[in-house]
Amino acid sequence: MMQHQNPIFIPGPTNTPDVLKAAMNISNFDHRAPDFADHYMPLLSDLKKVFKTETGQILLFSATGTGGWEGAISNTLCPSDKVLIARYGMFSQRWIDLCQRFGLDVEVVDCEWGTGAPIEEFGRRLCADTQGHIKAVLVTHNETATAVKSDVHGVRKVMDTANHEALLMVDAVSSLASMEFRMDDWGVDIAITGAQKGFMLNTGLAIVGVSPKAMQATKTATLPRCFFDFNDMANANAIGSYPYTPPVQLFNGLRASVSLLLNEGMNNVYARHHRIAEGVRASVVAWGLDLCAQTPDLYSDTVTAIMVPQEKDANLITQHAYKAYGVSFGGGLGQMAGKLFRIGHLGAMTDVMALSGIATAEMVMVDLGYNIKLGSGVAAAQQVYQKGYDD
Ligand SMILES: *Cc1c(COP(=O)(O)O)cnc(C)c1O
Repeated sequence: MMQHQNPIFIPGPTNTPDVLKAAMNISNFDHRAPDFADHYMPLLSDLKKVFKTETGQILLFSATGTGGWEGAISNTLCPSDKVLIARYGMFSQRWIDLCQRFGLDVEVVDCEWGTGAPIEEFGRRLCADTQGHIKAVLVTHNETATAVKSDVHGVRKVMDTANHEALLMVDAVSSLASMEFRMDDWGVDIAITGAQKGFMLNTGLAIVGVSPKAMQATKTATLPRCFFDFNDMANANAIGSYPYTPPVQLFNGLRASVSLLLNEGMNNVYARHHRIAEGVRASVVAWGLDLCAQTPDLYSDTVTAIMVPQEKDANLITQHAYKAYGVSFGGGLGQMAGKLFRIGHLGAMTDVMALSGIATAEMVMVDLGYNIKLGSGVAAAQQVYQKGYDD
């Protein structure tokens, strides 16, 4: 099926570069062999450069981002502990659900979808919590369902202003390795991502950054955990080992992915994602459509969520794009179902690839009777991507 040659424009899983496919296509090898640590230890330390942490440590579990959420909660908290979290999309909602299933006392701040973490409201609640009942503040850095970025550093600042001891846990599943993320500078205690988004790999790893303070919290936390036990993992890592069978193919892929990212340079990776996103947003303006994200400071550089006119059904866009053109876009989730569609543009993405997605979305909307002119969005993105010739 030639249509599988098309890039996918969903915000995860993402497109996999050939070099990473090749890196993952290796035979099993003996993870108890004496040279396992020679590959594993440098990988863990290079990952710290992607998370921008020097004091934290990186733990790798055979799981997905969801497993990372579970590990973060179960390793650091006790039953009925209070956590503070805002709901502004399907992913923050799913993390809330996970916390509730773990029997935590979840203090939810409901926000309009299209907005991000309510910094001032968090600040008020943290200041009011003089007894320190709130044990953790949970933030979805990039709400993939609405394409909204939240100000994690801003959350840390209000926590500090309130002199609050809570842990700061961040879902960075669709931002890390694509958008600026600074674990140490932002005072993040646990940062969570997966292999299949910014790292451009097959699905199957939860990649978790853990601060010394979060590690300390594991000593008193009593929620049950086994597979995701941070200490089992950290203790094995300390001697260059792994507590059970590691997915060596994914580790090899991750080695290659981290090298790709660091060779490009993290700032260049962020700049590339920003430029691509600016092009996509320029097309949305040219189409006369609105973003779900309410203000420019909230714009995500890894995914764009585009509202369709009220009389239209956005699900038809994703369906028609797939059937007619063999191209996948993201649909609306939860309360946004049918109201928006999403163009994912993270990971192995270039200006030229993005142009093909924009052109396809345009054909799809014209097919569906949208009042859009073929080429309008493409031209707007070209203005952003064009390099000029000044030889
Ligand atoms: C994809 C995603 C998740 C879920 O990760 P899985 O790897 O599918 O478990 C969680 N949060 C955000 C923000 C995501 O984009």
